[in-house]
Amino acid sequence: MDIENFEKFLNSVNEDLDKIFEYQKEYILCKKGCSYCCKQGDFPMSEIEYKYLMLGFDKLDEATKKEINKNIKKIKEQQNKDSYICPFLINDVCSIYEYRPFVCRTFGVLTEDAKGNPTFPFCASLNLNYSQIYDKEKKHLSMDLVEKNNFKIYPKIFRLNNKVIMNLPLAKQLNINFGEAKKMIDFL
Ligand code: SF4
Repeated sequence: MDIENFEKFLNSVNEDLDKIFEYQKEYILCKKGCSYCCKQGDFPMSEIEYKYLMLGFDKLDEATKKEINKNIKKIKEQQNKDSYICPFLINDVCSIYEYRPFVCRTFGVLTEDAKGNPTFPFCASLNLNYSQIYDKEKKHLSMDLVEKNNFKIYPKIFRLNNKVIMNLPLAKQLNINFGEAKKMIDFL
């Protein structure tokens, strides 16, 4: 793996994501220790992201590695492999945070589905991100609530997913080979 180029790419993506989260900060309630998004998912990623994540794993102490391996074993034994608690989540904190895949970095903002409809992060229904403007009954964006709450910035819908990120021009410029994409557990 060409780590240097991947890290260059990652840094650029991070800078853009920081701007996005900053721009939408009125709606974002993410904080350390809030780990709902790590507790249900299949965490899809590309091969290069997996290899990078494992660089983070290699740096952990033996006790933490042991705990993660136990978590992985438990997931492999469970029937449903489409939704699980991320094995790298230890005491509600990501143990490989600096090495986490794109799916974890992008979660939390308002995105769109394949048809261009706004898609809320699921934590909107848990009184977290965008919950102030989320109509829980109709399960969609309420412009009435945007007006009523006097937000300075309008909620913006971002086209953010693994495919969009991997197709950024910089990925081509840096000649990044992402490799096969799979669910996290299928790499482990
Ligand atoms: S890698 Fe880290 S941020 Fe991503 S789901 Fe797992 S614990 Fe959460």
